[in-house]
Amino acid sequence: MTSKEITTLKGLLEEPKKIVIVPHKNPDGDAIGSTLALHHFLKAKGHDCHVVSPNDYPEFLKWLPGEEEVIKFENETEKATQLVNEAELIFTLDFNHFSRSGLMEEVLSKASATYVMIDHHQQPDDYAKFMYSDISASSTCQLVYHFFEKLEETDKITPEIATCLYIGVMTDTGSFRFPSTTSITHRVIADLIDKGAENALIHQQTFDTNSYERMQLLGVALNNLKVLKDCNTAYISLSQKELDDHKFKKGDTEGFVNYGLSVKGIVFAAIFIEHKAENIIKISLRSKGDFDVNQFARKYFDGGGHINAAGGKSDKNLQETIAYFEEIVKKHQKELNS
Ligand code: 5GP
Ligand code: MN
Repeated sequence: MTSKEITTLKGLLEEPKKIVIVPHKNPDGDAIGSTLALHHFLKAKGHDCHVVSPNDYPEFLKWLPGEEEVIKFENETEKATQLVNEAELIFTLDFNHFSRSGLMEEVLSKASATYVMIDHHQQPDDYAKFMYSDISASSTCQLVYHFFEKLEETDKITPEIATCLYIGVMTDTGSFRFPSTTSITHRVIADLIDKGAENALIHQQTFDTNSYERMQLLGVALNNLKVLKDCNTAYISLSQKELDDHKFKKGDTEGFVNYGLSVKGIVFAAIFIEHKAENIIKISLRSKGDFDVNQFARKYFDGGGHINAAGGKSDKNLQETIAYFEEIVKKHQKELNS
């Protein structure tokens, strides 16, 4: 975003506006953290502001301040559609293409509002008049912090806003360990702690609230872990039955894919999760180093994301998807061994 655009946007935000903020479908900590942080900030400035999420999100995000105000498009379609249609400004956070908003794609495509995108995904679409896209950023939450800096309003960051931003940076960086974590990320985090984010408590609320069933499901996932040694690749699969047997709830498989990458020598990890209701296999991909899973997801699984973290889906059944995966991984054997 140029300084001229910042000045224009700053001007727009001086008068109360009808604003809608949208995270991507199946929002994660970064999507919900960034939308809620911006929501608190804009509300305090006097705007008529609403967060409209395409659908529900995991329990471990349901303690965040302001979470109870989130409107779920899936459940309150009429009200949410009206808010989108009447909005003067729509902020889309943590995604780069309307198709990532799931059920909201059509409504968003038709809305007359001015769009503001804040995002860190590769290959952003061009629907937004104001675009703050930085694919090197650790998280959208870090970008929202920098957005407040650009507006010269970091003094407006309350403990609630600091908490929401902290959780997104924390979850998208794997607790500050991925290469996207820079010294600037740590400076942002330090300031968020100074502004009231209770770091130890946030970690506990997010990571130490597992159900017994989720831990048992993790056991099943680890048992299903397969290693393709020649390709430095590991993958996990979970069938619908295995999910049902452990009373699967949204978010229960979050982070499971990373266990594949924790095996010594593995640079590429995948998880295949059967979704009978949608009749698809949902896929998460992770890598270390130069192996680009964004490209891999785009090429083979109708997906996308970042170089080291991406996702996609398959219309084949679980066994066929895995067989297909094993076949295409072999084509990348050289890259995976370099
Ligand atoms: P996760 O595997 O944790 O769901 O997602 C990892 C990254 O890939 C996130 O940045 C997410 O937004 C992106 N991603 C996940 N699934 C899809 C998908 O189906 N399509 C696209 N374009 N991106 C995805
Ligand atoms: Mn993100």
